[in-house]
Amino acid sequence: MIGDRQILLNPGPVTLSPAVKKALAGSDICHREPEFSNLQAAIRERLLQVYAPPPQAWAAILLAGSGTAAVEAMLTSLMPRKGRLLVLENGVYGERMSRIADIHGISYKALNCGWGATIDPKDVERALRAEGITHVAVVHHETTTGRLNDLATLGALCRSRGVPLFVDAVSSYGVEELDCEAWGIAACAATANKCLHGAPGVSFVLTRRDVLFDPELPKRTVYLDLAAYCRAQDNRSTPFTQPVHLFYALEQALQELEQQGGWRARRQHYRELAHAVRKGLIALGVRPLLAEHETSVALSAYYIPQGLRYEELHDGLKARGFVIYAGQGRLAQDIFRISTMGAIVRADIERLLAAVAEVIIQTP
Ligand SMILES: *Cc1c(COP(=O)(O)O)cnc(C)c1O
Repeated sequence: MIGDRQILLNPGPVTLSPAVKKALAGSDICHREPEFSNLQAAIRERLLQVYAPPPQAWAAILLAGSGTAAVEAMLTSLMPRKGRLLVLENGVYGERMSRIADIHGISYKALNCGWGATIDPKDVERALRAEGITHVAVVHHETTTGRLNDLATLGALCRSRGVPLFVDAVSSYGVEELDCEAWGIAACAATANKCLHGAPGVSFVLTRRDVLFDPELPKRTVYLDLAAYCRAQDNRSTPFTQPVHLFYALEQALQELEQQGGWRARRQHYRELAHAVRKGLIALGVRPLLAEHETSVALSAYYIPQGLRYEELHDGLKARGFVIYAGQGRLAQDIFRISTMGAIVRADIERLLAAVAEVIIQTP
């Protein structure tokens, strides 16, 4: 720790700004009182404003739960009973969407492209033609490897065939470009505690209202029923208890995003941090998994240096105040990940690089 500040370089929860942390200790309010209704309405409006799709056509719906809750709410609330979902997989989170479809009995076909690989639009086109697919689901930034999937191309493809697109934007919302209308997006799921810099425990779905209020949609869950949430939230209410202190933190975090110049300015900031990390690590002989232009600005994966175990790297850096992130599944022995999400600055990166150099040198 540096003072009481531990720098989190994992992809959420992130290092919070002092003002967001302070907001967590805001006054106790009841979720059935007007103070809460005002807070909830303000957050919903700000979430929409991040990418500013036409506000009458879209709704931001707030849920208690981590990012997966929002993804599960999106797929279970918006997939028609007779629909068939094509899930584009190139990492853990695409595969998780297939699992969600599977568990809820949603008819789906997984197009597994391999972890870290590009999703080839030709393969998607073929799948769309052959399988009687009605909807497509894709991860925007596949946090497993840091790959930023090309939603402009995939979205245009779906749009040209009239197939609605569901997006897991959990690790990109607030920092990467997301053109909901032009890319033919029906809904996207995201969270407070990654690129938006709020505290963990609140997530949300941004959805087209015409998609949400289609009377043909079945009910698959009680707690994750987006139409019920949206109706209540439009009426300044909530179907269930909301985590009010986490709402304070999210409201403060969204104000900071606006004050700092919105997603474009934040992308530029992340890009500078990520570039400094990449340059510094390469100078230390550490190799990136993907090229810079293929990677999101929010996270990059690197091969663990030869002769070092992940635990040694992790523990050495943690002792110096930095928390890095392991690879998932079969990548666990090969890679580590560095996220640039959160209230961190260039000086933090310089100290990180010095710490990595020390750990590499000191480990026999
Ligand atoms: C973090 C993440 C999730 C959700 O993870 P939670 O632990 O439920 O917050 C989903 N998709 C992507 C792409 C993510 O990075």
